[in-house]
Amino acid sequence: MEKGKKGEGKDMGKVAIYPGSFDPITYGHIDVVERALEIFDKVIIAIAENEEKRPLFSVEERLQMVKAFFKDTPKVLADSFKGLLVDYVAKTNAIVILRGLRATSDFEYEFHMASMNRSLNTHLDTLFMMTSKDYFFVSSRTIKEVARLGGGVEGLVPDLVVRRLKEKFKLPVTKKKQIGWDD
Ligand code: ADP
Repeated sequence: MEKGKKGEGKDMGKVAIYPGSFDPITYGHIDVVERALEIFDKVIIAIAENEEKRPLFSVEERLQMVKAFFKDTPKVLADSFKGLLVDYVAKTNAIVILRGLRATSDFEYEFHMASMNRSLNTHLDTLFMMTSKDYFFVSSRTIKEVARLGGGVEGLVPDLVVRRLKEKFKLPVTKKKQIGWDD
């Protein structure tokens, strides 16, 4: 691709947007991001502000967790957006929407969304990454369910997320009582 074309801005290189709820971010998401960094120069994690989904964490809380986890990875940026994804993507210099696929059950929804986004912006492609075998069963929804019932989710989400979940569900936090976002 020529320099200066969409998605290859002089400063950013090849950019992918990874949109989703990230309520909260899991190692499944993180695995997709890390593998995408082998292909792209930057990945923007774009948290959708969609109150209809009745999120557990506010957009600010979700953003803080993502930023804290990737604080030493300048190739990963975090942002939030409202409204249509294609409108948000148009404001960036991303070339691709990145999504993960865990099972055939994800496929139908993802296929419809990708097709709709392509019909709204014919230049925009969606790239799917298969989940890794270690995380195919991990979803934010099941993590929240298990954590709410007091089950262990260590190893499936970063430690800082484990602690935030425990705080949300008023479960005992093992280490310090007051924990900053980035420890
Ligand atoms: P959304 O509400 O948009 O589906 P999610 O945060 O649940 O947002 O997921 C964002 C993207 O990450 C989706 O493409 C989803 O399929 C993918 N994803 C979620 N969990 C995993 C996982 N364990 N492995 C691979 N991809 C995943």
